[in-house]
Amino acid sequence: MSISGNLQKVLAELPTDVRLVAVSKFHPNEAIEEAYRAGQRVFGESRAQELKAKHETLPQDIEWHFIGSLQTNKIKYIIPYVALIHAIDSWRLLEEVNKYTAKANRIVDCLLQLHIAQEETKSGFSFQECRNMLDNGDWKSLSNIRIRGLMGMATFTDSHEQVATEFRSLSEFYNEVKNNYFANQPTFNELSMGMSDDYPIAIEQGSTMVRIGSKIFGNREY
Ligand SMILES: *Cc1c(COP(=O)(O)O)cnc(C)c1O
Repeated sequence: MSISGNLQKVLAELPTDVRLVAVSKFHPNEAIEEAYRAGQRVFGESRAQELKAKHETLPQDIEWHFIGSLQTNKIKYIIPYVALIHAIDSWRLLEEVNKYTAKANRIVDCLLQLHIAQEETKSGFSFQECRNMLDNGDWKSLSNIRIRGLMGMATFTDSHEQVATEFRSLSEFYNEVKNNYFANQPTFNELSMGMSDDYPIAIEQGSTMVRIGSKIFGNREY
């Protein structure tokens, strides 16, 4: 099936209050243009220089999300235009992003990434590390970032049960964080979870934003 066909199929399955981030990493501009012509405007990339090159050559009304792990020396490539950074996984990264956004005179939306999978290779705060950071309170003085919610990736497994349990734990933690730290901030309202293989489960568990790549664009060639 075509990219636009795949896209329509995915969109037809999403509840109206769940947003789609079309993950275009490793795919050429032509693939993104096809999805763009079919109406998609939100795209996700995981490498800073690739994102920069695509931003410079593709339509300016695309909303670019950075979904990968961000190295501090690459922040500068994306700050002028990035709409949402999904994977803030340390206090240091949050501080660094704030430094660059301040310089660029922007306020950039960010999500905190939580480690919910069993694979050690996936990154993110543990629930307790995240609580500690938020309890500490220093984040309130970072005036050029806005924490919009949380993000997480489930274990890559065939076990529906395990994936559902991991997403449920993140969803419960999201409610805890919202109540304890962001109760009077309605802009804390995003829970980014769900990829090609597990987004229906993520939606059942309360996802507001799914990040889907291969189901739309096909397999990636690394
Ligand atoms: C690559 C990637 C995705 C998309 O993965 P698919 O399985 O192709 O849908 C989603 N989220 C993150 C963080 C990724 O790195």
